[in-house]
Amino acid sequence: MSGYNPYDNVVATIDRAAKILGYEQSDYESLKHPERELRVSVPVRMDDGSVKVFDGYRVQHSTVRGPAKGGIRFHHAVDNNEVKALAAWMTFKCAVVGIPYGGGKGGVVCDPTKLSQNEKRGIARRYTAMIAPIIGPESDIPAPDVGTNAEVMGWIMDTYSMIKGHCVPGVVTGKPIAIGGAKGRAEATGRGVMITAVNTCKALGKDIKGMSVAVQGMGNVGSISALLIEQQGAKIVAVSDVSGGVYNKNGLNIKEIVTFLDSGKKLLKDYQGDVERISNDEILLLDVDILVPAALENQINAGNAEKIKAKIIVEGANGPTTVEADEILDKKGVVVVPDILANAGGVVVSYFEWVQNIQSLYWDEEMVNTRLKAILDDSFNAVWSIAKENKVNTRTGAYLIAVQRVVEATKLRGIWP
Ligand code: NAD
Repeated sequence: MSGYNPYDNVVATIDRAAKILGYEQSDYESLKHPERELRVSVPVRMDDGSVKVFDGYRVQHSTVRGPAKGGIRFHHAVDNNEVKALAAWMTFKCAVVGIPYGGGKGGVVCDPTKLSQNEKRGIARRYTAMIAPIIGPESDIPAPDVGTNAEVMGWIMDTYSMIKGHCVPGVVTGKPIAIGGAKGRAEATGRGVMITAVNTCKALGKDIKGMSVAVQGMGNVGSISALLIEQQGAKIVAVSDVSGGVYNKNGLNIKEIVTFLDSGKKLLKDYQGDVERISNDEILLLDVDILVPAALENQINAGNAEKIKAKIIVEGANGPTTVEADEILDKKGVVVVPDILANAGGVVVSYFEWVQNIQSLYWDEEMVNTRLKAILDDSFNAVWSIAKENKVNTRTGAYLIAVQRVVEATKLRGIWP
Protein backbone atom coordinates (compact mmCIF):
# COMPACT_ATOMS: atom_id res chain seq x y z
CA MET A 1 0.00 0.00 0.00
CA SER A 2 2.39 2.61 -1.24
CA GLY A 3 2.52 6.00 0.45
CA TYR A 4 -0.41 5.19 2.70
CA ASN A 5 0.10 4.30 6.33
CA PRO A 6 -3.03 2.84 7.92
CA TYR A 7 -1.51 3.32 11.36
CA ASP A 8 -1.77 7.12 10.81
CA ASN A 9 -5.51 6.51 10.39
CA VAL A 10 -5.60 4.84 13.79
CA VAL A 11 -3.72 7.61 15.59
CA ALA A 12 -5.94 10.30 14.01
CA THR A 13 -9.05 8.45 15.13
CA ILE A 14 -7.76 8.00 18.70
CA ASP A 15 -6.89 11.72 18.85
CA ARG A 16 -10.32 12.77 17.67
CA ALA A 17 -12.13 10.60 20.23
CA ALA A 18 -9.79 11.58 23.09
CA LYS A 19 -10.33 15.28 22.35
CA ILE A 20 -14.11 14.93 22.55
CA LEU A 21 -13.73 12.91 25.76
CA GLY A 22 -11.67 15.78 27.19
CA TYR A 23 -8.61 13.64 27.94
CA GLU A 24 -5.15 14.97 28.64
CA GLN A 25 -2.44 13.67 26.30
CA SER A 26 -0.98 11.64 29.17
CA ASP A 27 -4.31 9.78 29.64
CA TYR A 28 -4.10 8.14 26.25
CA GLU A 29 -0.54 8.57 24.95
CA SER A 30 0.24 4.86 25.53
CA LEU A 31 -2.66 3.86 23.23
CA LYS A 32 -0.85 5.35 20.27
CA HIS A 33 2.08 2.95 20.70
CA PRO A 34 1.79 -0.82 20.29
CA GLU A 35 2.98 -2.63 23.42
CA ARG A 36 5.06 -5.20 21.59
CA GLU A 37 6.14 -5.82 17.96
CA LEU A 38 7.84 -9.00 16.84
CA ARG A 39 9.36 -9.42 13.40
CA VAL A 40 10.32 -12.92 12.33
CA SER A 41 12.00 -14.62 9.36
CA VAL A 42 10.22 -17.81 8.39
CA PRO A 43 12.30 -20.32 6.40
CA VAL A 44 10.27 -22.87 4.47
CA ARG A 45 11.31 -25.82 2.29
CA MET A 46 9.40 -25.31 -0.98
CA ASP A 47 8.08 -28.16 -3.12
CA ASP A 48 10.96 -27.79 -5.59
CA GLY A 49 13.49 -28.41 -2.79
CA SER A 50 14.59 -24.76 -2.46
CA VAL A 51 14.40 -22.82 0.81
CA LYS A 52 12.47 -19.55 0.82
CA VAL A 53 12.45 -17.13 3.75
CA PHE A 54 9.21 -15.22 4.38
CA ASP A 55 8.86 -12.10 6.54
CA GLY A 56 6.37 -12.37 9.38
CA TYR A 57 5.00 -10.10 12.10
CA ARG A 58 3.04 -10.32 15.32
CA VAL A 59 2.02 -7.09 17.01
CA GLN A 60 0.35 -6.78 20.42
CA HIS A 61 -1.16 -3.33 20.49
CA SER A 62 -2.70 -3.53 23.97
CA THR A 63 -3.18 -6.06 26.74
CA VAL A 64 -4.73 -3.55 29.14
CA ARG A 65 -8.22 -5.11 29.07
CA GLY A 66 -7.09 -8.73 28.62
CA PRO A 67 -4.91 -10.93 26.41
CA ALA A 68 -4.13 -9.63 22.91
CA LYS A 69 -6.56 -11.00 20.32
CA GLY A 70 -6.49 -10.80 16.56
CA GLY A 71 -6.09 -12.59 13.28
CA ILE A 72 -3.21 -13.73 11.15
CA ARG A 73 -3.06 -12.54 7.55
CA PHE A 74 -1.27 -14.29 4.68
CA HIS A 75 -1.02 -11.68 1.92
CA HIS A 76 1.67 -10.28 -0.34
CA ALA A 77 1.03 -6.67 0.83
CA VAL A 78 1.40 -7.35 4.58
CA ASP A 79 3.79 -4.89 6.26
CA ASN A 80 4.54 -3.73 9.78
CA ASN A 81 2.35 -0.60 9.62
CA GLU A 82 -0.60 -2.58 8.34
CA VAL A 83 -0.23 -5.15 11.12
CA LYS A 84 0.13 -2.37 13.73
CA ALA A 85 -3.09 -0.73 12.48
CA LEU A 86 -4.95 -4.04 12.42
CA ALA A 87 -3.74 -4.80 15.98
CA ALA A 88 -4.94 -1.41 17.25
CA TRP A 89 -8.34 -1.79 15.58
CA MET A 90 -8.66 -5.09 17.49
CA THR A 91 -8.06 -3.28 20.80
CA PHE A 92 -10.92 -0.88 20.08
CA LYS A 93 -13.14 -3.56 18.57
CA CYS A 94 -12.91 -5.73 21.69
CA ALA A 95 -13.52 -2.66 23.85
CA VAL A 96 -16.57 -1.44 21.94
CA VAL A 97 -18.32 -4.81 22.22
CA GLY A 98 -17.17 -5.21 25.81
CA ILE A 99 -15.25 -8.49 25.58
CA PRO A 100 -12.22 -8.96 27.87
CA TYR A 101 -9.41 -8.75 25.33
CA GLY A 102 -6.81 -6.33 24.11
CA GLY A 103 -5.72 -6.22 20.49
CA GLY A 104 -3.14 -8.05 18.42
CA LYS A 105 -2.56 -9.03 14.82
CA GLY A 106 -0.08 -11.00 12.77
CA GLY A 107 0.85 -11.58 9.20
CA VAL A 108 3.20 -13.27 6.80
CA VAL A 109 4.23 -11.66 3.51
CA CYS A 110 3.27 -14.34 0.99
CA ASP A 111 0.73 -15.00 -1.73
CA PRO A 112 -1.30 -18.02 -0.59
CA THR A 113 -2.85 -18.39 -4.05
CA LYS A 114 0.61 -19.28 -5.40
CA LEU A 115 1.52 -21.75 -2.63
CA SER A 116 0.85 -25.47 -2.50
CA GLN A 117 -0.95 -26.90 0.52
CA ASN A 118 2.36 -28.27 1.74
CA GLU A 119 4.12 -24.89 1.45
CA LYS A 120 1.26 -23.06 3.18
CA ARG A 121 1.38 -25.57 6.04
CA GLY A 122 5.14 -25.10 6.24
CA ILE A 123 4.73 -21.32 6.61
CA ALA A 124 1.96 -21.67 9.19
CA ARG A 125 3.92 -24.12 11.34
CA ARG A 126 7.28 -22.35 11.24
CA TYR A 127 5.66 -18.92 11.76
CA THR A 128 3.82 -20.33 14.80
CA ALA A 129 7.08 -21.68 16.21
CA MET A 130 8.71 -18.25 15.70
CA ILE A 131 5.93 -16.35 17.51
CA ALA A 132 5.31 -19.09 20.11
CA PRO A 133 7.21 -17.20 22.84
CA ILE A 134 4.61 -14.42 22.84
CA ILE A 135 1.32 -16.20 22.07
CA GLY A 136 -0.81 -18.43 24.30
CA PRO A 137 -4.33 -18.62 25.73
CA GLU A 138 -3.43 -16.18 28.50
CA SER A 139 -1.31 -13.77 26.48
CA ASP A 140 -2.23 -13.53 22.80
CA ILE A 141 -4.75 -15.56 20.82
CA PRO A 142 -4.61 -15.50 16.98
CA ALA A 143 -7.54 -16.18 14.62
CA PRO A 144 -8.18 -16.26 10.85
CA ASP A 145 -7.88 -13.18 8.64
CA VAL A 146 -7.30 -12.58 4.93
CA GLY A 147 -5.63 -15.60 3.34
CA THR A 148 -6.00 -17.88 6.37
CA ASN A 149 -8.88 -20.09 7.46
CA ALA A 150 -9.95 -22.81 9.91
CA GLU A 151 -7.46 -25.30 8.44
CA VAL A 152 -4.54 -22.91 9.05
CA MET A 153 -5.79 -22.36 12.62
CA GLY A 154 -5.74 -26.14 13.11
CA TRP A 155 -2.06 -26.24 12.07
CA ILE A 156 -1.27 -23.37 14.44
CA MET A 157 -3.02 -25.15 17.31
CA ASP A 158 -1.18 -28.39 16.57
CA THR A 159 2.23 -26.72 16.27
CA TYR A 160 1.82 -24.79 19.52
CA SER A 161 0.53 -27.93 21.27
CA MET A 162 3.55 -29.95 20.05
CA ILE A 163 5.88 -27.29 21.45
CA LYS A 164 4.06 -27.29 24.80
CA GLY A 165 3.77 -31.09 24.96
CA HIS A 166 0.03 -31.08 25.52
CA CYS A 167 -3.11 -30.04 23.67
CA VAL A 168 -3.72 -26.27 23.92
CA PRO A 169 -6.92 -25.55 21.96
CA GLY A 170 -7.31 -22.08 23.49
CA VAL A 171 -4.16 -20.72 21.80
CA VAL A 172 -6.08 -19.92 18.64
CA THR A 173 -9.71 -19.44 17.59
CA GLY A 174 -11.52 -20.10 14.34
CA LYS A 175 -10.36 -23.75 14.44
CA PRO A 176 -12.23 -26.61 12.79
CA ILE A 177 -15.08 -27.74 15.05
CA ALA A 178 -13.60 -31.25 15.40
CA ILE A 179 -10.58 -29.84 17.29
CA GLY A 180 -12.28 -27.30 19.52
CA GLY A 181 -13.72 -24.74 17.12
CA ALA A 182 -16.97 -22.99 18.03
CA LYS A 183 -20.12 -23.76 16.12
CA GLY A 184 -21.07 -20.61 14.20
CA ARG A 185 -17.53 -19.13 14.19
CA ALA A 186 -16.99 -19.51 10.44
CA GLU A 187 -20.15 -17.47 9.77
CA ALA A 188 -19.83 -15.10 12.74
CA THR A 189 -18.21 -12.07 11.08
CA GLY A 190 -20.68 -12.08 8.17
CA ARG A 191 -23.55 -12.71 10.59
CA GLY A 192 -22.42 -9.68 12.57
CA VAL A 193 -22.31 -7.56 9.39
CA MET A 194 -25.89 -8.64 8.62
CA ILE A 195 -27.09 -7.94 12.20
CA THR A 196 -25.46 -4.50 12.07
CA ALA A 197 -26.90 -3.71 8.63
CA VAL A 198 -30.39 -4.59 9.89
CA ASN A 199 -29.88 -2.51 13.06
CA THR A 200 -28.68 0.47 11.02
CA CYS A 201 -31.72 0.36 8.76
CA LYS A 202 -34.01 0.12 11.81
CA ALA A 203 -32.27 3.06 13.51
CA LEU A 204 -32.84 5.09 10.35
CA GLY A 205 -36.51 4.09 10.33
CA LYS A 206 -36.08 1.88 7.27
CA ASP A 207 -36.59 -1.78 6.42
CA ILE A 208 -33.70 -3.73 4.88
CA LYS A 209 -36.23 -5.73 2.87
CA GLY A 210 -36.00 -4.70 -0.79
CA MET A 211 -32.85 -2.63 -0.34
CA SER A 212 -30.11 -2.92 -2.96
CA VAL A 213 -26.70 -4.02 -1.73
CA ALA A 214 -23.17 -4.26 -3.18
CA VAL A 215 -20.45 -6.35 -1.51
CA GLN A 216 -16.76 -5.86 -2.32
CA GLY A 217 -14.75 -9.01 -1.47
CA MET A 218 -16.26 -12.52 -1.54
CA GLY A 219 -14.07 -14.29 0.99
CA ASN A 220 -15.19 -15.45 4.41
CA VAL A 221 -16.69 -12.11 5.46
CA GLY A 222 -18.15 -10.93 2.15
CA SER A 223 -19.75 -14.20 1.07
CA ILE A 224 -21.48 -14.86 4.40
CA SER A 225 -22.56 -11.21 4.65
CA ALA A 226 -24.07 -11.42 1.16
CA LEU A 227 -25.87 -14.70 1.89
CA LEU A 228 -27.32 -13.56 5.21
CA ILE A 229 -28.26 -10.04 4.07
CA GLU A 230 -30.06 -11.60 1.10
CA GLN A 231 -31.95 -13.84 3.56
CA GLN A 232 -33.25 -10.63 5.18
CA GLY A 233 -35.01 -9.80 1.92
CA ALA A 234 -32.45 -7.38 0.49
CA LYS A 235 -31.31 -7.61 -3.13
CA ILE A 236 -27.58 -8.18 -3.66
CA VAL A 237 -26.95 -6.50 -7.00
CA ALA A 238 -23.15 -6.71 -7.13
CA VAL A 239 -20.27 -8.68 -5.59
CA SER A 240 -16.56 -8.80 -6.36
CA ASP A 241 -13.32 -10.55 -5.54
CA VAL A 242 -9.69 -9.94 -6.46
CA SER A 243 -10.46 -10.86 -10.09
CA GLY A 244 -13.26 -8.28 -10.50
CA GLY A 245 -16.99 -8.01 -9.97
CA VAL A 246 -20.35 -9.12 -11.29
CA TYR A 247 -23.56 -7.06 -11.44
CA ASN A 248 -27.24 -7.64 -12.09
CA LYS A 249 -29.66 -4.83 -11.29
CA ASN A 250 -32.43 -7.35 -10.56
CA GLY A 251 -30.31 -9.20 -8.00
CA LEU A 252 -27.64 -11.90 -8.20
CA ASN A 253 -28.03 -15.56 -7.31
CA ILE A 254 -25.75 -15.38 -4.27
CA LYS A 255 -26.13 -19.01 -3.24
CA GLU A 256 -25.05 -20.14 -6.71
CA ILE A 257 -22.10 -17.72 -6.73
CA VAL A 258 -20.88 -18.80 -3.27
CA THR A 259 -21.22 -22.47 -4.21
CA PHE A 260 -19.20 -21.76 -7.38
CA LEU A 261 -16.45 -19.91 -5.48
CA ASP A 262 -16.27 -22.64 -2.84
CA SER A 263 -15.84 -25.40 -5.42
CA GLY A 264 -12.05 -25.25 -5.58
CA LYS A 265 -9.86 -22.18 -5.97
CA LYS A 266 -12.38 -20.42 -8.22
CA LEU A 267 -12.50 -16.72 -9.06
CA LEU A 268 -15.52 -14.60 -9.95
CA LYS A 269 -14.14 -13.79 -13.39
CA ASP A 270 -14.83 -17.42 -14.32
CA TYR A 271 -18.43 -17.40 -13.03
CA GLN A 272 -20.89 -17.83 -15.89
CA GLY A 273 -24.30 -16.45 -14.98
CA ASP A 274 -26.75 -13.76 -15.98
CA VAL A 275 -24.36 -10.96 -15.02
CA GLU A 276 -22.54 -7.90 -16.28
CA ARG A 277 -18.83 -7.55 -15.46
CA ILE A 278 -17.72 -4.58 -13.36
CA SER A 279 -14.39 -3.62 -11.83
CA ASN A 280 -13.53 -3.32 -8.13
CA ASP A 281 -13.44 0.46 -8.55
CA GLU A 282 -16.90 0.50 -10.13
CA ILE A 283 -18.53 -1.67 -7.48
CA LEU A 284 -17.79 0.96 -4.84
CA LEU A 285 -19.51 3.66 -6.89
CA LEU A 286 -22.78 1.86 -7.64
CA ASP A 287 -26.06 3.57 -6.84
CA VAL A 288 -27.11 1.17 -4.06
CA ASP A 289 -28.73 1.56 -0.65
CA ILE A 290 -26.03 -0.38 1.21
CA LEU A 291 -22.35 -0.91 0.38
CA VAL A 292 -20.38 -3.57 2.25
CA PRO A 293 -16.62 -3.27 1.69
CA ALA A 294 -15.33 -6.70 2.77
CA ALA A 295 -11.87 -6.95 1.15
CA LEU A 296 -8.94 -4.82 2.28
CA GLU A 297 -8.00 -1.44 3.77
CA ASN A 298 -7.97 1.92 2.00
CA GLN A 299 -10.62 1.03 -0.62
CA ILE A 300 -12.74 4.13 0.02
CA ASN A 301 -10.36 7.07 -0.03
CA ALA A 302 -10.03 10.73 -0.96
CA GLY A 303 -9.91 9.67 -4.62
CA ASN A 304 -13.36 8.08 -4.79
CA ALA A 305 -15.33 9.11 -1.67
CA GLU A 306 -17.00 12.06 -3.38
CA LYS A 307 -18.38 9.72 -6.05
CA ILE A 308 -19.86 7.15 -3.63
CA LYS A 309 -23.64 6.90 -4.08
CA ALA A 310 -24.50 4.35 -1.37
CA LYS A 311 -26.53 5.77 1.53
CA ILE A 312 -25.22 3.31 4.11
CA ILE A 313 -21.76 1.73 4.33
CA VAL A 314 -21.31 -1.25 6.64
CA GLU A 315 -17.60 -1.98 6.99
CA GLY A 316 -17.04 -5.73 6.79
CA ALA A 317 -13.32 -5.23 6.16
CA ASN A 318 -10.92 -3.64 8.61
CA GLY A 319 -9.99 -0.08 7.72
CA PRO A 320 -11.64 0.13 4.29
CA THR A 321 -12.28 3.89 4.67
CA THR A 322 -9.50 6.43 5.15
CA VAL A 323 -9.81 9.41 7.49
CA GLU A 324 -10.09 11.81 4.54
CA ALA A 325 -12.82 9.72 2.93
CA ASP A 326 -14.68 9.56 6.24
CA GLU A 327 -14.89 13.36 6.34
CA ILE A 328 -16.15 13.53 2.76
CA LEU A 329 -18.78 10.84 3.39
CA ASP A 330 -19.86 12.58 6.58
CA LYS A 331 -20.49 15.82 4.68
CA LYS A 332 -22.46 13.89 2.06
CA GLY A 333 -24.66 12.42 4.81
CA VAL A 334 -23.59 8.83 4.19
CA VAL A 335 -24.01 6.67 7.30
CA VAL A 336 -20.79 4.68 7.81
CA VAL A 337 -20.97 1.89 10.37
CA PRO A 338 -17.35 1.39 11.39
CA ASP A 339 -15.36 -1.82 11.17
CA ILE A 340 -14.78 -2.03 14.93
CA LEU A 341 -18.53 -2.47 15.37
CA ALA A 342 -19.73 -3.89 12.04
CA ASN A 343 -17.25 -6.77 11.77
CA ALA A 344 -16.95 -7.52 15.50
CA GLY A 345 -19.08 -10.67 15.19
CA GLY A 346 -15.97 -12.71 14.43
CA VAL A 347 -14.08 -11.75 17.54
CA VAL A 348 -17.18 -12.10 19.72
CA VAL A 349 -17.60 -15.73 18.65
CA SER A 350 -13.82 -16.20 18.90
CA TYR A 351 -14.24 -15.13 22.52
CA PHE A 352 -17.00 -17.74 22.91
CA GLU A 353 -14.68 -20.34 21.39
CA TRP A 354 -11.85 -19.47 23.80
CA VAL A 355 -14.26 -19.62 26.77
CA GLN A 356 -15.47 -23.06 25.61
CA ASN A 357 -11.87 -24.28 25.14
CA ILE A 358 -10.87 -23.15 28.62
CA GLN A 359 -13.95 -24.77 30.18
CA SER A 360 -13.97 -27.82 27.87
CA LEU A 361 -17.69 -27.28 27.71
CA TYR A 362 -19.24 -26.77 24.28
CA TRP A 363 -22.33 -24.79 23.26
CA ASP A 364 -24.83 -25.47 20.50
CA GLU A 365 -25.03 -23.10 17.53
CA GLU A 366 -28.27 -21.53 18.65
CA MET A 367 -26.68 -20.44 21.93
CA VAL A 368 -23.70 -19.00 20.04
CA ASN A 369 -25.91 -17.05 17.62
CA THR A 370 -28.31 -15.82 20.32
CA ARG A 371 -25.50 -14.52 22.53
CA LEU A 372 -23.75 -12.97 19.52
CA LYS A 373 -26.89 -11.08 18.52
CA ALA A 374 -27.46 -9.86 22.09
CA ILE A 375 -23.94 -8.41 22.31
CA LEU A 376 -24.06 -6.81 18.87
CA ASP A 377 -27.55 -5.33 19.40
CA ASP A 378 -26.51 -3.79 22.72
CA SER A 379 -23.23 -2.50 21.28
CA PHE A 380 -24.99 -0.99 18.26
CA ASN A 381 -27.58 0.77 20.43
CA ALA A 382 -24.87 2.16 22.72
CA VAL A 383 -22.84 3.47 19.77
CA TRP A 384 -25.88 4.94 18.01
CA SER A 385 -27.01 6.74 21.19
CA ILE A 386 -23.61 8.18 22.09
CA ALA A 387 -23.13 9.37 18.50
CA LYS A 388 -26.50 11.14 18.58
CA GLU A 389 -25.82 12.68 22.02
CA ASN A 390 -22.47 14.06 20.89
CA LYS A 391 -23.66 14.94 17.36
CA VAL A 392 -20.83 12.92 15.84
CA ASN A 393 -20.77 10.18 13.24
CA THR A 394 -21.06 6.49 14.08
CA ARG A 395 -17.31 5.83 13.85
CA THR A 396 -16.51 8.57 16.33
CA GLY A 397 -19.35 7.28 18.54
CA ALA A 398 -17.80 3.80 18.55
CA TYR A 399 -14.37 5.23 19.38
CA LEU A 400 -15.81 7.34 22.20
CA ILE A 401 -16.98 4.15 23.90
CA ALA A 402 -13.87 2.12 23.02
CA VAL A 403 -11.24 4.71 23.93
CA GLN A 404 -13.06 5.52 27.16
CA ARG A 405 -13.04 1.82 28.16
CA VAL A 406 -9.34 1.34 27.36
CA VAL A 407 -8.34 4.58 29.11
CA GLU A 408 -10.41 3.64 32.16
CA ALA A 409 -8.65 0.25 32.35
CA THR A 410 -5.26 1.93 31.89
CA LYS A 411 -5.97 4.35 34.73
CA LEU A 412 -7.28 1.63 37.03
CA ARG A 413 -4.21 -0.52 36.44
CA GLY A 414 -1.80 2.41 36.50
CA ILE A 415 1.49 2.76 34.66
CA TRP A 416 3.84 0.14 36.13
CA PRO A 417 6.26 0.47 37.91
P1 NAD B 1 -10.60 -13.75 2.75
O1 NAD B 1 -9.19 -14.01 2.42
O2 NAD B 1 -11.49 -14.88 3.10
O3 NAD B 1 -11.28 -12.94 1.55
C1 NAD B 1 -10.78 -11.75 1.02
C2 NAD B 1 -11.62 -11.41 -0.22
O4 NAD B 1 -11.19 -10.17 -0.76
C3 NAD B 1 -11.44 -12.43 -1.36
O5 NAD B 1 -12.69 -12.57 -2.01
C4 NAD B 1 -10.45 -11.75 -2.29
O6 NAD B 1 -10.55 -12.21 -3.61
C5 NAD B 1 -10.90 -10.31 -2.13
N1 NAD B 1 -9.87 -9.35 -2.50
C6 NAD B 1 -8.54 -9.39 -2.26
N2 NAD B 1 -7.94 -8.32 -2.78
C7 NAD B 1 -8.91 -7.57 -3.33
C8 NAD B 1 -8.94 -6.35 -4.03
N3 NAD B 1 -7.81 -5.67 -4.26
N4 NAD B 1 -10.13 -5.88 -4.43
C9 NAD B 1 -11.27 -6.56 -4.20
N5 NAD B 1 -11.31 -7.73 -3.56
C10 NAD B 1 -10.15 -8.23 -3.14
O7 NAD B 1 -10.58 -12.65 3.92
P2 NAD B 1 -11.72 -12.36 5.00
O8 NAD B 1 -11.41 -13.15 6.22
O9 NAD B 1 -13.06 -12.43 4.37
O10 NAD B 1 -11.36 -10.84 5.38
C11 NAD B 1 -11.84 -9.75 4.62
C12 NAD B 1 -11.75 -8.49 5.46
O11 NAD B 1 -12.51 -8.65 6.65
C13 NAD B 1 -10.35 -8.11 5.94
O12 NAD B 1 -10.26 -6.71 6.04
C14 NAD B 1 -10.27 -8.72 7.32
O13 NAD B 1 -9.32 -8.08 8.15
C15 NAD B 1 -11.69 -8.44 7.79
N6 NAD B 1 -12.15 -9.27 8.89
C16 NAD B 1 -12.14 -10.63 8.83
C17 NAD B 1 -12.63 -11.37 9.89
C18 NAD B 1 -12.72 -12.88 9.85
O14 NAD B 1 -13.28 -13.45 10.78
N7 NAD B 1 -12.24 -13.55 8.83
C19 NAD B 1 -13.10 -10.72 11.03
C20 NAD B 1 -13.13 -9.33 11.06
C21 NAD B 1 -12.66 -8.62 9.98
